[in-house]
Amino acid sequence: MRLSATRIKTYLTCPRQFRYIYIDELPRVPTTPLLFGSAMHETLCWLHECRMENGALANIEQAMQDFQQRWNDLLQAQAPVFKPGMTSQDYEAMARQMLAVHLKVSRKATVPLLLEFPFEVAIGEHTLVGILDRVDEGETGLVVMDYKTGSRKPSARDVEADLQLTIYAFGVQQMFGLPVEKVICHWLRDGVDLVSTRDKNDFAWLADEIVPYIANGVESQNFAPKPGYWCRWCDFRELCQAENSGQNADVNGGSASWPMQSN
Ligand code: SF4
Repeated sequence: MRLSATRIKTYLTCPRQFRYIYIDELPRVPTTPLLFGSAMHETLCWLHECRMENGALANIEQAMQDFQQRWNDLLQAQAPVFKPGMTSQDYEAMARQMLAVHLKVSRKATVPLLLEFPFEVAIGEHTLVGILDRVDEGETGLVVMDYKTGSRKPSARDVEADLQLTIYAFGVQQMFGLPVEKVICHWLRDGVDLVSTRDKNDFAWLADEIVPYIANGVESQNFAPKPGYWCRWCDFRELCQAENSGQNADVNGGSASWPMQSN
């Protein structure tokens, strides 16, 4: 089974949603936060690639020009649903602010080793895949960095528990056979690095518990719905409610506990 951080997180959040997305392959509704994240990641990759080639960082206007092009292309190609209260101009202003901060902190930082780097490594009898935002060379090993564009700043505890960072660190260590010195969640709004580490216990937990749990669940077709506050952002709420009407055993033991009807 090929598993990525997104697939793993989706199954853990709600197995039924996993089925809709990855088994049934139902179309999803593109949203502006998702597209904004894609455009920002691409622009950051471009910025650092230019620096590697030319030895100098672009300025803010060049960075914005690159972002604007990618953003407009995505808006045109995907016609996303806008986050309530947000306009295209709001996203452009946010991009300008994030890029200005990123350029400032990057002038003092080391040049990245890898950018938007795809990996594919074995984990037990399965395969872990993903794309690393960025890997730097540290003093005692590799540094795995993940860019975050979301509105909520992750806490130190979020970063410690971040499964995506564990997966990326595992992938890097397996791929290069080098230790991972630290993992960093880089929140683009303030340019601050939230630093944590991953060790063999984290990797054992991933390999021995998380991946087998998901692989067994998918192979045995355990796609029970798992309602929660995340249902508010689920593209498949209506379908899910329709599928589960009359199947009380699937939903926390009874339809009375089905929370989506009151959302
Ligand atoms: S509506 Fe909720 S329970 Fe149903 S698939 Fe979506 S996240 Fe899962």
